[in-house]
Amino acid sequence: MRVVVRDLSKGEQVLTGEIKPEIVGAESLYRFTKPIKVVAKAQRTGDDLVVKANVDFGFASICSRCAEDVESDIKSEFWLDFEIPVGAEYIEIDDDIRQEILIGLPVKILCSENCQGLCPQCGKNLNQDQCMCKKDQ
Ligand SMILES: [Zn+2]
Ligand SMILES: [Zn+2]
Repeated sequence: MRVVVRDLSKGEQVLTGEIKPEIVGAESLYRFTKPIKVVAKAQRTGDDLVVKANVDFGFASICSRCAEDVESDIKSEFWLDFEIPVGAEYIEIDDDIRQEILIGLPVKILCSENCQGLCPQCGKNLNQDQCMCKKDQ
C-alpha cells in the first residue's frame, strides 16, 4: 500500500488493502491462515506522515505446553510515523506494518489459559487424560 503525498493536502486518506502472509517472514513459528487485512488512516502532520493502522489476521501455531495446534484470530491497532522526504510522491507503508505485526505476535502461545501440558515423565497430554506417573512434589 502506498500513500500519495499530494493527496494528503486534502486531509485524512483512508487506505484499505491486504498484505500477503508469505512476506511477513515468520513462517518458522507461525502460519498465517488468511490474508492480513489492513485499514490505514493516513494524515499529514507538518513534515510527518502519521498512519493509524488496523490489522485483522489469523494464524496457526502450536501450544507451547502441550504442542497441540492452536488457531488464533487477532485484531490490532497501532500508529506509525514516517518522515516525508522532500519531493517524495508517495510513501510505501507495507514494510512498517509487517514489522509491527511481527512485533505484536505472541511469543508464547497456549491452547488455553489452564492448559495442563504434557507429563514430563511419560509425555501424555494431561488435558486429555491423567497418567499414572507419580508427581514429585
Ligand atoms: Zn496446550
Ligand atoms: Zn505421566
